[in-house]
Amino acid sequence: MPEHSPLDLAEGDPFGPHNLPYGVFTTDEEPDRRRLGVRIGNHVLDAGAAAQTLGSPYATLLARPNLNPLLAAGRTAWRDVRRALTAWVTVPAHRRDIQSLLHPLDSVTLHMPYEVADYVDFYSSEHHATNVGQIFRPDGDALPPNWKHLPIGYHGRAGTVVVSGTDVVRPSGQRKSPADTDPVFGPTRKLDIEAEVGFVVGTPSEQGSPVALADYRDHVFGLSLLNDWSARDIQAWEYVPLGPFLGKSFATSVSAWVTPLEAVDAARVPPPDRDVTLLPYLDDADDDEPGGLDLRITVMINDQVVAEPPFATMYWTAAQQLAHMTVNGASLRTGDLFASGTVSGPEVHQRGSLLEITWNGQNAMELPTGTRTFLEDGDVVTMTAWAEGAHGVRVGLGEVTGRIVPSRA
Ligand code: MN
Repeated sequence: MPEHSPLDLAEGDPFGPHNLPYGVFTTDEEPDRRRLGVRIGNHVLDAGAAAQTLGSPYATLLARPNLNPLLAAGRTAWRDVRRALTAWVTVPAHRRDIQSLLHPLDSVTLHMPYEVADYVDFYSSEHHATNVGQIFRPDGDALPPNWKHLPIGYHGRAGTVVVSGTDVVRPSGQRKSPADTDPVFGPTRKLDIEAEVGFVVGTPSEQGSPVALADYRDHVFGLSLLNDWSARDIQAWEYVPLGPFLGKSFATSVSAWVTPLEAVDAARVPPPDRDVTLLPYLDDADDDEPGGLDLRITVMINDQVVAEPPFATMYWTAAQQLAHMTVNGASLRTGDLFASGTVSGPEVHQRGSLLEITWNGQNAMELPTGTRTFLEDGDVVTMTAWAEGAHGVRVGLGEVTGRIVPSRA
């Protein structure tokens, strides 16, 4: 009998050689030495050490403390490195070398995998935007008149994007309900989640030059789950007329694993039918490759499933979001992160925020850990997702999790 190896994964393991997401880790022995890792099953391959051991031309690129140099290296390098990694974890001749460079996932510490440059968040689920419109503007049209003509977004705060597992301190701020005569200050009473998918830019662009829909894959390296924590009471009082500010900027959590776009190619699906004629820079009707992605997201609070948002229902695609955010000539930088906006499907159990699930607190949820409208201190929110892969093997996205800790203000 051959010895059992961590490379011998169960059939259908969602983190098999068809996936190979990238992260950054340290070990207990060397807590200050950050290294690039690639997840295979429940192990992390030290990618830099593997490249060096096997004499890869990408050894220097992979022997770095974060993903930014690989992101900046461009699409050809991304493809070549992925091919090499696939060979390293599957070709028997490499088995002994590779096995010695694997670390059990539960023995390492995972870190923010890349340095975030700019951060943009969109609002691209029609179901989410309709629900929010009905909740916040019950007397007006649910969707603003521009919504089907452009992907609405805002610039968020790059410096407060944190890796999965980081505690989130309950933010304090101003709020004023319609019944109050004056605003009051204090810890938010409406701390919420937004289940989203974030896209990571590798290749930069020149200021003044838009990035066309067709060039999306030359610029975007990969994707990960993202939780856009939101304080609804702070947001409701501050957001007119310039949009979200302190109700969002206190923390955004991302998965420790960045999944290469190529790994989810088999999950591409056409986006929903468009109701209006799009301007040419956003018109993807004749694209050869569909721009939507069939990702199935699960949202849990304290291990209880509260929602299963379907990413395939998103109205605007990531390629359209990228084309729109650069059409004015705004440039891209390596490490730019843009998020999809809250993913909500048409069904109640598919809503990606507590604002929608509880209809702004009107309909409380019963969880084994108690009744909830919004999040309580100590609550742990975890999101997972998978995509259908080639030959029916699921592609797992790395989870994003975070625990709420009490306000300090
Ligand atoms: Mn959001």
